[in-house]
Amino acid sequence: MSGLCQCFKADTLAKSEGFDGLVGHRMAQDMKFQCACGALSGVVEAAGPKTGHHVACYCKDCRAFVRHLRQDARFPDAAGGTDLFQTSPARVKLTEGVEHLASLRLSPKGLYRWYASCCDTPLFNTGTGPGLPFASAMTANFVDGVAGLGPVKARVNTGSALGKVPPPKGFWPTLRAVGGLIGSLLAARLRGDQKRSPFFDAESGEPVAKARVLTLEERQAANRP
Ligand SMILES: [Zn+2]
Ligand SMILES: [Zn+2]
Repeated sequence: MSGLCQCFKADTLAKSEGFDGLVGHRMAQDMKFQCACGALSGVVEAAGPKTGHHVACYCKDCRAFVRHLRQDARFPDAAGGTDLFQTSPARVKLTEGVEHLASLRLSPKGLYRWYASCCDTPLFNTGTGPGLPFASAMTANFVDGVAGLGPVKARVNTGSALGKVPPPKGFWPTLRAVGGLIGSLLAARLRGDQKRSPFFDAESGEPVAKARVLTLEERQAANRP
């Protein structure tokens, strides 16, 4: 079983301006997010096309996460895609209801999948530890919509889509998206963003909420077609 969600591997291919934030601030804005019941909320600071990657992932794992939490109606698009904004965890600030932050993993080595336990709203995906400083925000939680993120730059893992995937898709957009994420990860590490993540303790590197690993049965149920 793969340690990383397929979306991460694919997403890891784009040229990008990165999670950088030192450039391209003009379009960036703090974007508020909240869970469905409103108990947990926060902001992604300076979110915009220059500070992260707006992509849609069609991998089974992203879908399984949403399905396990029984949020099918709210998240995947008609082709089973999940709209994500991949940025540095140092840009993510939780402002209300932090005590509801919970995590799960689809497999023992899978990505951390963060959600709000108050209402089971999927929130973020992160790497398997602080050493991979990225956070993919589920943009459906952004209270002011996604216009500020610019258009979707790539649709990745379309081989496991459930229906017709709209553009942009294909090799080059994916390659740019993945290359961009790799560059952004390196830059984020150099800045020490792994020490400024709301998901992992800066000292110990442990997740702030222990993840429950799904049982095989739960995973199979979440992977149903
Ligand atoms: Zn995915
Ligand atoms: Zn909630």
